[in-house]
Amino acid sequence: MAGALQGSIEAGGTKWVCAVGTGPDDLVSETRIETTSPSETLGRVIEFFRNQPAIDSLGVASFGPLELRPSRSNFGSITSTPKAGWSNTDLSGALGEALGVPVGIDTDVNGAALGEGRWGAAVGLTSFVYLTVGTGIGGGVVVDGRPLHGLVHPEIGHVAVTRHPDDGFAGLCPFHGDCFEGLASGPAISARWGDEPRRLAPALRRSASDMEAFYVAEGLRAIVFTLAPERIIVGGGVSQIEGFHPAVRSALVRTLAGYPGLPEHGAEGFVVAPGLGDRSGIAGGFALADLAVAAS
Ligand code: ZN
Repeated sequence: MAGALQGSIEAGGTKWVCAVGTGPDDLVSETRIETTSPSETLGRVIEFFRNQPAIDSLGVASFGPLELRPSRSNFGSITSTPKAGWSNTDLSGALGEALGVPVGIDTDVNGAALGEGRWGAAVGLTSFVYLTVGTGIGGGVVVDGRPLHGLVHPEIGHVAVTRHPDDGFAGLCPFHGDCFEGLASGPAISARWGDEPRRLAPALRRSASDMEAFYVAEGLRAIVFTLAPERIIVGGGVSQIEGFHPAVRSALVRTLAGYPGLPEHGAEGFVVAPGLGDRSGIAGGFALADLAVAAS
């Protein structure tokens, strides 16, 4: 399919990025569409693609949760989401029917992981994780080159983490309180410390950054021990705190406590920033478009 035009969508809770090209480095066009109601948003997205040169397939990396079991009649739908009005919204069926092309769909983070695997920081690896730490925490997992699914897709943001001994914050997760996301998302940092880290006084900022590195490393420990990835890519707004990746690397070495004793877990290349910056998701859409062609 080299040279064929494909469509890519990164569907988010605030905006949808839509692109047409042969890949993320060769775009014909790109647009951003504000996320409003499902019918209005999907209508604008479909209109955008109809006004572009014909595409052979479409990939969608979307916020979720999504139904991704092919045997289910609602495959490719957003299931039960806190995003108002979006529960039970069929994405892949509606887009495929309107545009007449095969549609590949996965979570935004599984998509981002696939994008990083093909063009970014995980090229050449077969098992790796893409974690985003921002408004929420989510992780995409690629195992043997394929995005991981089971009954549902991974929900790494909700793993349990050991509490920092100096932290009295209750946590923000509406389901679990002090799970990984409840303690370490951007909103959790702001709620605990009173503001975003970059706006805090230097001493407080240092404490906030140290505690954040501690919690992210706790989440990564669960990933290391359950999924055994070759690399963990950490992106998202919180990962842009100065010194974030080295601090997480050091904290991870501390919390692994010498087990299983692999030097790779402490190496610079184990916990890294996205190679594609904030373009992992749209690259993932192109990777998913390719998978849709392969499956059709
Ligand atoms: Zn939770």
